[in-house]
Amino acid sequence: MQLFDVAYGRELYAELPKIINPPFLVVSNKDLWPRFSHYFDSKETFVHLVDSLEIKDLEKTLKELPDVKAIVGIGGGVAIDVAKYFAWRKHLPLFQCPTSMSVNAPFGHRSAVRDNGILKYVGYAIPEMIYVDYDVIQSAPEYINRSGVGDIVCYYTAKWDWEYATKVGKCEKKWPYDDFWVSQASEVLNSVLNSTSDINAVNDRGVQTLMNALRWGGAAFNNAGWNPRPIEGSEHTLFYSLEHLIHKPFLHGQIVSLGVVIMSYLQNNDPKFIKGKLDEMGVAYQPEDMDITWTDVRNGLKHMIDYSKESKNLWYTIATETEITDKQLDEIEEWVKG
Ligand SMILES: [Zn+2]
Repeated sequence: MQLFDVAYGRELYAELPKIINPPFLVVSNKDLWPRFSHYFDSKETFVHLVDSLEIKDLEKTLKELPDVKAIVGIGGGVAIDVAKYFAWRKHLPLFQCPTSMSVNAPFGHRSAVRDNGILKYVGYAIPEMIYVDYDVIQSAPEYINRSGVGDIVCYYTAKWDWEYATKVGKCEKKWPYDDFWVSQASEVLNSVLNSTSDINAVNDRGVQTLMNALRWGGAAFNNAGWNPRPIEGSEHTLFYSLEHLIHKPFLHGQIVSLGVVIMSYLQNNDPKFIKGKLDEMGVAYQPEDMDITWTDVRNGLKHMIDYSKESKNLWYTIATETEITDKQLDEIEEWVKG
């Protein structure tokens, strides 16, 4: 199992100029960089502030890039993905410094970029090191940090979907049900479900627990032979379907968490239990938390079958073929609100 190296601590960013071979490129966000720029010598440091995930734009930036010897990503998902992309294309050593826990991007091999607006996971970059600074993470808004559990709690519904697909004889031949990966994912899921108060508080133990879980999850797609089944199921389909309908950027973990709550209900998979855990962690999964309405959610749920047919690359889950009645939608809405 290949997991990326990670170090936890404090005042880590000040050390970066001492360990990274100059000159190097920092990839960061416009709003974050002013907080950290004073750690770096302007003569040794080139800076790229992200404004696009389009491959075309990234390739253009690469052509204009000065001669650097390393890449450093500082920021949320986008800066981390762009840093990864540059390091891959340039064969350069990569250092990643996530500033929140919203995604598992720092811990995954591929970079999430856009090809004419279509999301694509490409590349292969293993960082020398990932530095997680507690104070930096804890200065990010709590709702963003807590949302990071979305890509872990989805193992709960994904497991059920994999069992279900197997039971009804619709599981893909290349991805037969695998106890090893299911038990690995369950262990990681439980590490988070057993630390709900630390994660809610975003204290040091909470940061370490959630980041360690994301560390396993980020690399799992590669390590499981590009098999998404242990880590992703019907809960993600709601997200894809909604994004397809309303073209709105989501905080990934929030919408995935809502997906887990709703899908566990449709699966009859002890939904009370997992909803209770999300509530203990203070995850903001209600539609109004993400500026959407219940009408949007209901349309998203109804659109899942069509979306699955259109996208063609989704595996069989409760979301891909099961019609949801209006009565069920009423029940879901009432239950999630309650
Ligand atoms: Zn996800």
